[in-house]
Amino acid sequence: MGDEFKVLIVEDEEKTFKQLKEGLASGNCKIYRATSGKEALKLIKDIYFMAVISEIRLADMDGIELIKRIKKIDYKISLIALTAYSFTDSAIKALKAGAFTYLTKPLNIEEVRLVLQKAIANSCLLIQAGKRKYYEDMSILDGLTGIYNHRHFHEKLEWQIAHLRRFPQAFSLLMIDIDNFKKYNDNKGHLEGDKVLHNAAQLFVNSTRNDDLVFRYGGEEFAIILPQTTQQDAKRIVERLVTMVRAKLPVTVSVGIATFPDNAQAKDALIDMADKALYRAKRLGKDRFCAFDEKLDK
Ligand code: GH3
Ligand code: MG
Ligand code: MG
Repeated sequence: MGDEFKVLIVEDEEKTFKQLKEGLASGNCKIYRATSGKEALKLIKDIYFMAVISEIRLADMDGIELIKRIKKIDYKISLIALTAYSFTDSAIKALKAGAFTYLTKPLNIEEVRLVLQKAIANSCLLIQAGKRKYYEDMSILDGLTGIYNHRHFHEKLEWQIAHLRRFPQAFSLLMIDIDNFKKYNDNKGHLEGDKVLHNAAQLFVNSTRNDDLVFRYGGEEFAIILPQTTQQDAKRIVERLVTMVRAKLPVTVSVGIATFPDNAQAKDALIDMADKALYRAKRLGKDRFCAFDEKLDK
């Protein structure tokens, strides 16, 4: 990756700072320096650092205290404590305070580089996990399958319709229901059932386009919004989807298709029509799709 990572070195000793700076110069990190704890905290408030390498013995502040404060500001920053060879106690204190790891002086620059790499990887993981949690907190994702949830479905469909009222363009809505899922649960157990739901969600996401939106609508029901897709196009896509499920999952699905604006121009009406088409697919024997038809789906 060509990304540049910002790394802060908190070190008042000139010699150690120079050694670190020169040793890390060839990597893809940009080095900043603070010579006191106070200066370090000021920089951390303004600049996003992936890692902080900090001397534990600072003139103005206990290094352990600094670690605690940095963690409080942003727990995703990986901290590396620098201690003198004989100060094992302070290294342990640093780890307890939240440091990612520690290095002892005299420094081995190869070791510093490796440790820093690991520290940055650790920060990246924490950032990813933080983003995931953020989306969960925003409550748009379904916990079991990891795809968008019911609530987000209504928001997106609303948005799609409001947007297209101004720029009329067809899009299709799919309502998908797993066939005989109660029986599957009864035979294989609820946990196996959960796995199927998870795998079905992944299959839907992987076999649709990037712009398509896949939702868990409820229990064993999914919805997919296919932007810029006419009923004719949707039928082709769904034909493939139903075949794929049959081949790759231990269950089959039935699907109803409704298309905006031909079938309906309001959100609830469109859902209702996709539902009616879905129930016709169920009546006709499941493991198939139906597109809403005025005459057949009264
Ligand atoms: P049909 O073909 O008519 O759709 O029959 P069905 O058995 O799939 O439909 P029904 O509505 O009778 O039952 C749905 C089943 O889905 C019952 C319920 O236990 C199961 N289910 C719903 N949510 C979950 C879930 O989160 N995990 C598991 N394992 N099962 C679920
Ligand atoms: Mg159902
Ligand atoms: Mg079902």
